[in-house]
Amino acid sequence: MEVKYDLRFGNTAALLFYAIGEKPMKQLDLLDMFFPCLFVVEVEGKEKQEAEFDDVNLRIKAVRYHDSLYVGSSSRVSQILGRLCGTARGNQEKERKTAQLMQKQAASVICTTTDYMLLLQEDIRKYLEVLDDEELEVFVYLLSHFLIKVSEHTEECDPDILFPLDREVFEGIVYNGLKQLRRDTMEGYVNAYLWLLIGSLLRNESGRVLRLYDSSFINVNRTPSENDTLQDRLNYLFHPEEYESVYYGDELDRKYPGIEFYCDQCGAHLNEQDGFDDHMTPWECTACGYENEISEYVIYESQEDMRMGKKPLDPDDIMTAIARRREEVEK
Ligand SMILES: [Zn+2]
Repeated sequence: MEVKYDLRFGNTAALLFYAIGEKPMKQLDLLDMFFPCLFVVEVEGKEKQEAEFDDVNLRIKAVRYHDSLYVGSSSRVSQILGRLCGTARGNQEKERKTAQLMQKQAASVICTTTDYMLLLQEDIRKYLEVLDDEELEVFVYLLSHFLIKVSEHTEECDPDILFPLDREVFEGIVYNGLKQLRRDTMEGYVNAYLWLLIGSLLRNESGRVLRLYDSSFINVNRTPSENDTLQDRLNYLFHPEEYESVYYGDELDRKYPGIEFYCDQCGAHLNEQDGFDDHMTPWECTACGYENEISEYVIYESQEDMRMGKKPLDPDDIMTAIARRREEVEK
């Protein structure tokens, strides 16, 4: 077995099988395994009944034969599968359009059905939990190696094989994947793998998922900013001590400009509450009455970091950034 470092569903889905030293399942089974009910529907039928495409529901209907979903000789179905998994070459425009519609529909389900994302996470967690320690270690290694390798090369997309992937979406997938992996928890591994699977399968349609799940909310802009390269952002992710905070905004009447505070008890957005002033501490949440500390010692990179018990940001670093901005503006 050989790991291929292209962001294609066929490659990312295979990583889990490589970790346990097994041959990956067939394409139809992989789609059914990682994205149940979205692309494939299992139907009752004769043992070797050819798979069909259901144009109304945009799903492949297949029967199970010897533990595997049976494709048979339908060239339409294999062309669609090849498009989704990133293996088919050819110019069958109809199948290409169909696969694209399936991607759109899948992104829609993932973004609008809250339970579906939870279901995906739960399934992947189940697959990872049955691995023994050594297999899990190999899997995490393969995952991080894969993410780093693909982050290093800009893949020229061959339009005959793959759907396009905008730079921004590609970087969002890789960045989020590595960020999750770096948490070094089971949940982080699950999320990292999910980012890879979604990004490789849905291609540009995963932009919708990215916008929905991007959790960073603090405006004390750090260098690198959004304009910096993926390598810069990854370097910051792994070596934050090499960077310092910069604040570019102009909300200088606030003590903590650009920083949003949330109630530790009920999660309410405190900045929006009547009479809130970030010079006042503690602030009693108007929703639940909890007294929240408002200070530079309780500022986190993201709500996620706070929930995960990560360390708050360096208070001196934040206050220096704000002071520097005040000086700049006063000049
Ligand atoms: Zn509250």
